[in-house]
Amino acid sequence: MILVLKQGIGEEEIEQIRSILRQEGYLIREMSTGDETVIGVVGKVSRDLRFFEQLPGVAKVVPVSRPYKLVSREMHPQDTVVQIGDVQLGGPRIVVIAGPCAVESREQAMTIAKKVKSAGAVLFRGGAFKPRTSPYSFQGLGEEGLRILAQVREETGLRVATEMTSPNQADIMMKYVDVIQIGARNMQNFELLRSAGRLGKPVLLKRGLSATMEEWLMSAEYILSEGNEQVILCERGIRTFERYTRNTLDLSAIPIIKNLTHLPVVIDPSHATGIREKVSPMARAAIAAGADGLMIEVHHDPSNALSDGPQSLYPEQFEQLMRDLYVIAPVVGKQLDFAYLEKAAPASSLPSVKTGGRRRAVFAGEMRAFAHKAASQFFGSDINIDPVPSFRDVFREVKEGNCDFGVVPLENSLTGSIHENYDHLLEYDVRIVGEITLRIVHALIGHPGTELNAIKRVISHPQALEQCRDFLERQPEWELVAARDTATAVRRIKEGGESGEVAIAAREAADLYGLSVLKEGIETNPRNYTRFAVIAASAVNNGPRKKSSLVYSTSNKPGALFDTLQIFAENGINLVKLESRPIHGKPWEYMFYVDLEADVESNELAEVMRQLSEKTEYLRVLGSY
Ligand code: PEP
Ligand code: MN
Repeated sequence: MILVLKQGIGEEEIEQIRSILRQEGYLIREMSTGDETVIGVVGKVSRDLRFFEQLPGVAKVVPVSRPYKLVSREMHPQDTVVQIGDVQLGGPRIVVIAGPCAVESREQAMTIAKKVKSAGAVLFRGGAFKPRTSPYSFQGLGEEGLRILAQVREETGLRVATEMTSPNQADIMMKYVDVIQIGARNMQNFELLRSAGRLGKPVLLKRGLSATMEEWLMSAEYILSEGNEQVILCERGIRTFERYTRNTLDLSAIPIIKNLTHLPVVIDPSHATGIREKVSPMARAAIAAGADGLMIEVHHDPSNALSDGPQSLYPEQFEQLMRDLYVIAPVVGKQLDFAYLEKAAPASSLPSVKTGGRRRAVFAGEMRAFAHKAASQFFGSDINIDPVPSFRDVFREVKEGNCDFGVVPLENSLTGSIHENYDHLLEYDVRIVGEITLRIVHALIGHPGTELNAIKRVISHPQALEQCRDFLERQPEWELVAARDTATAVRRIKEGGESGEVAIAAREAADLYGLSVLKEGIETNPRNYTRFAVIAASAVNNGPRKKSSLVYSTSNKPGALFDTLQIFAENGINLVKLESRPIHGKPWEYMFYVDLEADVESNELAEVMRQLSEKTEYLRVLGSY
């Protein structure tokens, strides 16, 4: 049950309630959900509800209707984010766990780990204790396998996940492993669940072969009841009458589970399908359906794998899958970042090189504007994110060392480049160290209860009004008013208090100001994305760098631009953007802005860059990221 406490209750009174509940033998979970203080009470309730209602300081008592309590969303409305080293599973970043079915040797594990890491995986998987259907199949390397996993972590920085099959393994799991996996066959091994719960490490709980979602959540409840809330649910296919696949992947588990519980959910398409060719389509579908992550079996030599070779992806297939997920994730409001691991580490552990305090990033506009959302998705919660008045201020703050990073929009998929920022990139000597693509979903925002037919005025940034033109044209009597940015428009609605006024902005802006979303997805074209660049005063990223941005000018001779492009073509380098901008003060002369799918600062491309500099009059690398 949930006790909602009276507003403004003092700490002394809360302590009294706590001590009564403890005396009665209940487990207590405290939550603060915005303005309410709430205590979750778990255990066998032998008292009448009225006993709790009359406790001093209690405003109301809400029974939890589900059989699982700690796991339920009623008890814990916000998403749980599981922290694994520097990586967060359950936030806006997609987390991909990859590796072989079983650890076979140090060499095998290390080879695969390096490959999956360079493709963007952030956790390594590999079984050391393999519960196989046949007692004659390979059973895993045991503790030696765990030692190899620990070496993989040491050498690559990837955190490691492995299956625990017996409470006897508790000590060695503590010693070597970061995420404890409970296998499908052990989902209802309650002794094992309790033992894993007590270790205090994140637990990945696979759904049993024939378990209902409720049974699965009850198993998670065992782990949470040991005081461990760091639980990840993993759907890996269930047993049905269908024999074309090894199991049947229950993708509907994603929205259902996310509704019933606050715990993150991960999909394992490898064990679900059992067939290599089916793994990538199901992985893509899982991300589109809202999964927080994936667990994928990868092997460099699957035909000689000691287990599950036929369902293991080749590293090249895995890399292609990751590139596809990179494109899909923003559609559902998430991100896949190939260099997540490198980025997460300094963001959380190091103080700011600029100010000595917490790291700081700035963006132009108001809190909860789209640029703020981009910055929060890129950096997570380990950094201060502050607004400044203009794009120029972002560049200036970065250049002058008042912050570590800046986030600026470079282009929109419908309206094209934000030229001002391209010009600033040239003027200020800063580096692009990352990029993030955000899907722009516009919402109509007003005071709670505003009816559409009562609207008189719509306020927003002119570009947002333009992007919602079809919707707005259906309401010709609405007056359209421009604001500096979308979040400013929402603030004006809040402060104005006039019920006939509404704003167009991101849903997050409505949440910030306690306003309602009257209608969402009102943009004319749903393929509305903005690409933001993350800038810093100097290069910071040591991780995989898949892209580079350059700016150059050529001589005014026939074929001069062609000569530069030929260098890319001959070296198999994919050009993903080419734009020209006038050079200030030199009428009819242009700078070319080029994005390439390559790390032009790597040693392998040194010769290519030398050739390019010969064919250009001015050449600058804006960044590789
Ligand atoms: C595994 O992930 O290695 C495994 C054995 O999976 P499951 O428990 O889902 O069969
Ligand atoms: Mn396997």
